[in-house]
Amino acid sequence: MVSSEESVLDVLMRHPVAEWVRRRLEADPAAGPGDRDEYFDNCTDDGIARWREDFFTRGARRLPFKGRAEPVPIEEKTHVCMHNTAARFGTARYQRRPWERRLDAGELPAELAARYGLAELGRDATAARLALHARFWTVAYHWVVLRNGDVLYNNEPTRYTFHGNGANAAAIGVSMEGMLPARERDRRASHDAADEAFVARGQRLLRLAVATTRAAGAPLTHITAHRCFSPDRRGDPGEAAWRQVVVPLLDELGLEVDYGFAEAGGRPIPTDWDDSATHDWAGREA
Ligand SMILES: [Zn+2]
Repeated sequence: MVSSEESVLDVLMRHPVAEWVRRRLEADPAAGPGDRDEYFDNCTDDGIARWREDFFTRGARRLPFKGRAEPVPIEEKTHVCMHNTAARFGTARYQRRPWERRLDAGELPAELAARYGLAELGRDATAARLALHARFWTVAYHWVVLRNGDVLYNNEPTRYTFHGNGANAAAIGVSMEGMLPARERDRRASHDAADEAFVARGQRLLRLAVATTRAAGAPLTHITAHRCFSPDRRGDPGEAAWRQVVVPLLDELGLEVDYGFAEAGGRPIPTDWDDSATHDWAGREA
């Protein structure tokens, strides 16, 4: 995908999507498609994935991700499926310890250690950050933004991962970490904030996920929600993620929403989340 010598912008400019990027940069030069320093590579050998282990058994195969061994051709990736993790992630001592050892032994190349902030954060916090990212190796999303703001490129787009039921084949999974209410009017004190920083990082996540996946050759045309594919995930990704992160970027990213769509017990995007929606929370035509 993206080698360490070239920026995402370089890759984009070699691809048909370059025209899309050029138009965007003309509209807002400061926006940019993002460069490599804006996200953490959690899945290719350029990043810490050199320590990522196979953990998932699929038939006779062992895989470094939860999914199917057979990749999905990049031309078949037409959708983004939005999620929230419905959980907060932390790290235990036993998960931090290997990273402390690797830092102490100088096993991380200086460039990588610097990338994770060793000079600013110190050894313990850097190890905790590395361990937190490594926890997401068992999580099926292709892209995820953490509560601390870190954006992870977590699985290559051609990996068939189990992130969204019927969305798995055609969609890359893009997720925001946190306990988010299905609807903001149901918000409780125990929920995570959907403040300005959360929304800004979510938008950064979505821009990076779309730009890099298109640069890899995927014809992303639509965005959908896990809610539409599962009766158990009706609040996924939740009103804040959809209304404040997805909706404002639809035109900019050239993504469409199929507002009537739902399958397998899921429900369409609700009017509670999106003023253009055609169905209510219960799935009835509005
Ligand atoms: Zn989900």
